[in-house]
Amino acid sequence: MYFSMLTNLTIKQAHKGLKNKEFSAEELVNSHIKVIQEKDKDINAFVLTTFDLAREQAKKVDSKIKKGEKINLLEGIPVSIKDCFCTKGIESTASSNILKGYVPPFDATSVRKIKEQGAIILGKVNTDEFTMGASTETSAFGVTKNSHDLKRVSGGSSGGSAASVASQMAMYSLATDTGGSIRQPAAFCGVTGLKVTYGRVSRYGVMSMASSLDTIGPIGKSVEDVAIILEAIAGHDKNDSTTPKIKVDNYLKNLKEDIKGLKIGVPKEYFDSDLSPEIRKITEKAIQKLKDLGCKIKEVSLPHTKYAIAVYYIIVPSEISSNMARYDGIKYGYSEREEAKDLMEIYTKSRAKGFGDEVKRRIMLGTYALSAGYYDAYYKKAMQVRTLIKQDFDKVFESVDALIAPVTPGPAFKIGENINDPLQMYLEDIFTAPVNLAGVPALSVPYGKIDNLPVGVQIIGKHFDEKTILKIGSNLEK
Ligand code: GLN
Repeated sequence: MYFSMLTNLTIKQAHKGLKNKEFSAEELVNSHIKVIQEKDKDINAFVLTTFDLAREQAKKVDSKIKKGEKINLLEGIPVSIKDCFCTKGIESTASSNILKGYVPPFDATSVRKIKEQGAIILGKVNTDEFTMGASTETSAFGVTKNSHDLKRVSGGSSGGSAASVASQMAMYSLATDTGGSIRQPAAFCGVTGLKVTYGRVSRYGVMSMASSLDTIGPIGKSVEDVAIILEAIAGHDKNDSTTPKIKVDNYLKNLKEDIKGLKIGVPKEYFDSDLSPEIRKITEKAIQKLKDLGCKIKEVSLPHTKYAIAVYYIIVPSEISSNMARYDGIKYGYSEREEAKDLMEIYTKSRAKGFGDEVKRRIMLGTYALSAGYYDAYYKKAMQVRTLIKQDFDKVFESVDALIAPVTPGPAFKIGENINDPLQMYLEDIFTAPVNLAGVPALSVPYGKIDNLPVGVQIIGKHFDEKTILKIGSNLEK
């Protein structure tokens, strides 16, 4: 096996190669480091690298293999971690100046789980500040570019995760999705991303954005890889009371099952006039393919879809305004302590300097929506409509096994195109945010291209039925 080809492999292929001693974990890690050193000057996916640590860990895996010990599927496999995950002993900032210098004394549960499996962390990757955005342009570290066209964004907020996998700088990435942050960048970069059911993966140790919608999930090169990672990170965690004790499926094994006879719904609201004709064509091709594979296609309706963006952008800022209160210049990271004359000034100066524009915008919107006199008109109303949106999904899932839809209204947009128009940026989430409001899982699989730019299709499933959407996605990608 040629050295330079190692970064091409999927997790399973790399695992096999390691086991059969075709190459060492050190070689595998070094080949990824080499690609990062070559490509990341242009892409800007990594905000911090941990190469020495990675090489050290690789040596440990190699000595295990040499001794003939059994290794896990993720053992020795290099991974990138979105910067909003707490990583023990490694600076974690959510790409915000306010967390500059914050080194967590503990790992997020999902990070701990993959580390226990022997994962090798290459570093932290870029995100919109506190994951608020759809392009990584709100990051304190600058934008992550799209390898398919360096003038375009890699999407967001998990742009660093998606770009690192797409450019073969990491074999997979851990990321988060609150309104589309895994699925949209995965689609823009031509990789696979899974937004899990709310509660399927522990959120412990991941910086909260909107706690009732935040989810943790994988971005990988294939549906099979995503299934492997999900199996490693899913399940109940005593540190996150929103993770129920529901059995974790054998996702990898389930991928092989037939999808013939499955009923797939096509939500008509997602194919309204706003959809670009190219995306429509590609999605329709995917629908045809599912038909050819023996699925039964049925048009369905999610009538409250039109309210989803409005509802999302009231609930999310409301939760943000509460979650961001902890960044006060005292507890973590950046502080204007030296400059301030009293406690109040530590708060105001640290927050004024530490937060970027988008975070401030959302704190103000959320504080307004929650304030006495407006609470009923905005927050409460939005929560009521959220219930209607969830009920739409419950109802269609009585008659279909999964839904198929576009991921994004178009392919990756140009850097700078939307950043000064928040409303336009928010509309990026039109096909992804309803899924978070309902709490159901959804997979973004690369499907087709528009002028050399990748796009994805979205497979949406029932609560805790990741196995069905992974199975469908795996058939689509073949
Ligand atoms: N683009 C959406 C937002 O800005 C989604 C972000 C996310 O999923 N973290 O809220």
